[in-house]
Amino acid sequence: MKKQLNSDTIRGSKEPTRMCIICRGRFSQNFLLRFQVKNGKVIRYENLGRSFYMCKNCIENDEKKVKKIVINKFRIKSKNIEEFGNILKELDTNG
Ligand SMILES: [Zn+2]
Repeated sequence: MKKQLNSDTIRGSKEPTRMCIICRGRFSQNFLLRFQVKNGKVIRYENLGRSFYMCKNCIENDEKKVKKIVINKFRIKSKNIEEFGNILKELDTNG
């Protein structure tokens, strides 16, 4: 039987899951990237402070939605969201 990888399947496993703030799906941590807000900017998590997760699916397929939600949720200024866009681009090229 083919096992489909969806949030229900993951929920049933023992792996700890985290919620993607964009699509609100729950995924194992290796499918998520961890970020934080620092000085009004969204950056990769530096092991300090509050953090949040976004799944690779959202980052790769829906960058516009990702930016929009981040702007609304954390009140990020548009000049700072450009930097965040660059971070996302780097993530794409590095795999
Ligand atoms: Zn997501």
